[in-house]
Amino acid sequence: MQDQVETICGFCGTGCGLLVETEDNKISKVKGYKENPSSHGETCVKGALGWGYLRSDRRLTQPLIRKNGELTPASWEEALHLIATKFSQVKENHGADAFGCFSSSRSTNELNYLAGKFMRTVIGTNNIDSCNRT
Ligand code: SF4
Repeated sequence: MQDQVETICGFCGTGCGLLVETEDNKISKVKGYKENPSSHGETCVKGALGWGYLRSDRRLTQPLIRKNGELTPASWEEALHLIATKFSQVKENHGADAFGCFSSSRSTNELNYLAGKFMRTVIGTNNIDSCNRT
C-alpha cells in the first residue's frame, strides 16, 4: 500500500518541509513539500537523500564495549555503568574542564537543553557547543 506523509526534516534546524512516500510501510522516496511556508518544496541533499541508513544492516542496535580489542555486545546497564565509571575517573584525575561536548542540531531543542544541563550541572564544565549554539 502506498502512502504520503508530510513532515519536517530533522537533519538541521532549518526545518524544511518534506513529503515522505511509503510503500508497504517503508520509505520509498523523500522530496520537498511544496506547501511548506519556509522551504516551498526545496531541500538540500541530506533532506532528500539522507534516509538510506534507516534500512542499513550496519546500524547499531545495542551498546558495544571493547573487550580484549573486540567490540562486544553489552546491556545498556553495563554500558552506562562503564561510562559513569570512566567519566568519574577522568573528572577526579583531570578536572571537569577535561570534558567537552558537541551537541547536535539534529537533536530536538529539549535534547540540546538536556546536554547543556548535563555538562554544566553533572560534569561541571561550560565546555559545550554545537552548530546551534546550545
Ligand atoms: S533539507 Fe537540508 S537544509 Fe532543510 S532542514 Fe533538512 S538538512 Fe536542513
